[in-house]
Amino acid sequence: MSTLYGILLFGATVAFMEAFAYGMHRWVMHGRLGWLLHASHHRERHGPFELNDLYAVIFAAPSIALIWMGTTGGWGPPAVWIGAGIAVYGAIYFGFHDIIVHRRIAHRVVPRSRYFKRIVQAHRLHHAVETREGTVSFGFIYAPPVERLKALLRKGDRSGVRAPKGGSTDLHD
Ligand SMILES: [Zn+2]
Ligand SMILES: [Zn+2]
Repeated sequence: MSTLYGILLFGATVAFMEAFAYGMHRWVMHGRLGWLLHASHHRERHGPFELNDLYAVIFAAPSIALIWMGTTGGWGPPAVWIGAGIAVYGAIYFGFHDIIVHRRIAHRVVPRSRYFKRIVQAHRLHHAVETREGTVSFGFIYAPPVERLKALLRKGDRSGVRAPKGGSTDLHD
């Protein structure tokens, strides 16, 4: 297998993982069963971990299996490129989502580019809602324009919208 083909497969896997993560987040993690773990991510965390972190373990499993089977199990290079794509998507997600947005590791990074600001704001809007239903923005490395997300959020069921300290649920900032 040529390296070029491998790199294409790798890139396609990273893109596919964004679509896959969107679907999982929207329909499984915010579904009745998946919410059992994901609810912990929509509440205040006490301690370094939350139940939702188990999803990282679940998503890592196919990546580890593919790289393992590709290197020692006879599945060959395509399995390694796909496994690496899943792993790199996981690393990007962890960097943006857990470190930049949720600050699980202290840092001084301030999002300056338009793209960066947009994905951070989009995910904050996802967290404006603490209930299973009624939230917006399920993807991560792609996010629709923030204004569109705000409009969607205003239109939706507001019962789960977090009331900020002042008691207002105004979404303008
Ligand atoms: Zn969520
Ligand atoms: Zn989050």
